Order: sequence, then C-alpha cells, then structure tokens
Amino acid sequence: MDFTIPDELLELKERTERFVRDEILPRENDKRQGAHGPSEAFRLELVALAKRAGLVSPHVAREWGGLGLDHRGKAVVFEAAGYAPLATIAMNIFAPDEANMHLLEQVADERQQEEFLRPLASGAIRSCFMMTEPAPGAGADPAMLLTAARRASNEAGADFVIDGTKWLITGAVGARFAIIMARTESDPLGPAGATMFLAPMDAPGIHIERVLDTLDTYMTGGHAVVRLDGLRVPETAVLGKVGQGFRYAQVRLAPARLTHCMRWLGAARRAHDIATDYARRRTAFGKPLGEHEGVGFMLADNEMDIHTCRMVIWHAAWVLDQGERGRHESSMAKVICSEAIWRVVDRSMQVLGGLGITDDTIVARLFREVRPFRIYDGPSEVHRWSIAQRVLRGGGAVAS
Ligand SMILES: Cc1cc2nc3c(=O)[nH]c(=O)nc-3n(C[C@H](O)[C@H](O)[C@H](O)COP(=O)(O)OP(=O)(O)OC[C@H]3O[C@@H](n4cnc5c(N)ncnc54)[C@H](O)[C@@H]3O)c2cc1C
Repeated sequence: MDFTIPDELLELKERTERFVRDEILPRENDKRQGAHGPSEAFRLELVALAKRAGLVSPHVAREWGGLGLDHRGKAVVFEAAGYAPLATIAMNIFAPDEANMHLLEQVADERQQEEFLRPLASGAIRSCFMMTEPAPGAGADPAMLLTAARRASNEAGADFVIDGTKWLITGAVGARFAIIMARTESDPLGPAGATMFLAPMDAPGIHIERVLDTLDTYMTGGHAVVRLDGLRVPETAVLGKVGQGFRYAQVRLAPARLTHCMRWLGAARRAHDIATDYARRRTAFGKPLGEHEGVGFMLADNEMDIHTCRMVIWHAAWVLDQGERGRHESSMAKVICSEAIWRVVDRSMQVLGGLGITDDTIVARLFREVRPFRIYDGPSEVHRWSIAQRVLRGGGAVAS
C-alpha cells in the first residue's frame, strides 16, 4: 500500500485548507443557519464560493464538472473540508448528495445522468435518498422494506405505482428529486426484490408529512417523514435494473460510509485543535491544563484516535481503488471511525470544561453531529454482526 500523496492532490488539499480558512471560517456563524442546516440562498452562496475556488464536486468525473478524485483522493480532500462542515456543503460533498452522485455515475443511464446527475454535480439542486421506513418497515434490516411499487394497469405515462412511508429522509425538504427504494414483484424486466426509482419531489403522490426535530443541525433540509401515496412513475424512472435495488444500495453505501468517516475525521481534528489550544493557554493549579497528566493523556488519546482513523480510511480507500467491493473494510472503517471520532469530540469537550458545552466554540455542535454517525449507514452493532459473519465464513480483510 502506497502512502504517497501526488503533487496535484497535495495542491488540492492545500487549496481546500485555504478555502476553509479564508472563505468558510469567517462565515461559520452566519445567521442563515437553523436546526435544519443552511437556508437555500446561503447554500447557493457557499457553492458559488467553492466554484470560484474550483472545488465543487471534486469526487465526480470531469465530464460532469468534477475533478475525478479516486477514493484516496477523497480521503485527503474530504478530511481537509470536514475541518469546517459548512465547507463540505459548499463543495457539494455532503450527505446524501455526494453518495447519490456516486450512485448515479455508476448506475444511471445517459438520459438520467443528464437530467439528474449534471445539475446535482453543479450544486444547482439537491436530492434525497429514501430507504428507511418507520417500524415495522426497513431500518437496520433493509430486507424489511414495505414500500411497494406495483405495475400500473395500462395507465398512460405510469408503469409503476409506489405506496409506502419513509422516514429520517435527509434533505427531503428542498430536494429536486428522490431516489426511492421499493419492493417489486417478479417482472419481465427483472426478478422480484427491491428496485430503485428516480422521481421529482414535486410529483403528485410525494407528501412531506413533517420534518423531525433531531440532535444534529448541519444536514441541509433536516430529516423528514415522507408519505408515498399512489406515486406514478414511468419505466424510464427505474434506476439501473428492476430487482437490483439491494445490490445498488451497497454500491452507494460502501463508499458513502467511508466519505462520512473522512468528513467527520476533519471535524474531529478541529475539535482536537481547539482543545489543544485551550490546554496550552488555560492554567489551573499553577500550570497550563495540558501539563496536567489527566489532560495531556486526553490529548494523546485524541491524537492516536485521529491517526488510527486516517490509516483505516486510507486502507479501505485503497481497497476500493483496487476495484474491490470493500464491504468488509468499509464496515470496519465505519465502526472504528464513528466510535473514535465520537471519543475525540467528547474528550475535546471535557478539556474545554464549561466552555465546551457552550456554542462559543464549534465543539458542542460537532458533539451533536457525530453521535448520530454511529447509527446511520448501519449502526455499529449491525456492522460488527456482519463483520463477524464474514470472519466465521473465513472471509476477511484484503491484504496490502
Ligand atoms: C442523522 C440520520 C440521517 C439519516 N438519513 C437517512 C436518509 O437520508 N435516508 C434513509 O433512507 N435513511 C436515513 N437514515 C436512517 C438510518 O439509515 C437508520 O436509522 C439506520 O439504518 C438504522 O435503522 P433504524 O433507525 O430503523 O434502527 P432499528 O432497525 O430500529 O435498530 C435499532 C437498533 O437495534 C440494534 N440492532 C439492529 N440490528 C441489530 C443486529 N443485527 N445486531 C445487533 N444489534 C442490532 C442497533 O443498535 C440499532 O441502532 C438516517 C438516520 C440518521 C440518524
């Protein structure tokens, strides 16, 4: 495994760091942010700044306006951007759009790519991904999918009718289109199973019932409950092939888990830097906080957790760059990083004392942000369980 960062990637990393420092940090407390992320006007302003810096959608192929980064390239640039989560919104590399772009690049046909991927990659529009359902539907176990797409009977312009309820759908409010996962019967076009559909959010039959009040606040549009009620879609709305939805979910999720790790690692580094700075300046019992072993050890543990995450992400990215599916590696990275990043932000808060729980630093906000990371894109327990299954079957990590 090669750890060399090529010169052009190094330049991009430094450009991202300059962008974060010069353009994003001064705007971090802009009032046009609420419990559900930045307003659309503010988001578009941020995207315009990133465009000026040549940093929009760096993960997307050049033909769609991106920079064509591979997974290791993303590891470097996304971590740099994650230092200020608003930068990831500006650069159009935040969830769920970033992973949706990856899926559309891999699976959509040319017409769908022109219609959905091109404007999404430019940052002009947003999207959402609808898989999870309230109990007893799909959650940690996606096979419990209840939303159903049935063949329509000879109705003009509609080949499938979709019914169901989705929830925790990030960015549904303000999204231009959705990727919807629904159960389908055996069909001339494919076997019974799950199918992904593309649908405009203003289609009759898509109803946003409510936006949930949640712990986190960065994700644009928040998380919504969406009712699909007689949503009619043509056959051309099928993303990829009928019956392949669960396979495509993995195409999306294996890299998506990793990119979450990359972005939140940048955020953890930020919390650690703020704590370190405080531990140098603040004194107690006659010496700087950092000179007390209890505080110094927290900083040391932060440093080791950050280092471990970076190594684990790099290895998983390397595996994906070799053309492997990387499910095992991305699962392990997701558990290791989501838990380590949580510890780093938690310790940083502790080092800051009372200041840590105020919004006078970004640490409290990051604390609220990284807790859900242990749940979405597969809770830690489910990843541990599936890692164990592979270990028992004799599978394991791809060696380097
Ligand atoms: C911030 C956030 C954003 C999200 N955005 C989206 C989105 O945009 N689109 C979307 O479709 N979904 C989204 N989700 C949903 C997310 O993917 C689900 O929350 C996740 O898959 C878990 O499903 P669940 O909440 O139904 O938990 P449940 O299935 O109810 O599971 C609850 C708990 O049970 C335990 N558990 C489950 N199975 C096992 C097992 N095999 N072994 C041991 N323990 C187990 C785990 O501890 C788990 O946390 C989002 C969630 C969050 C928190």
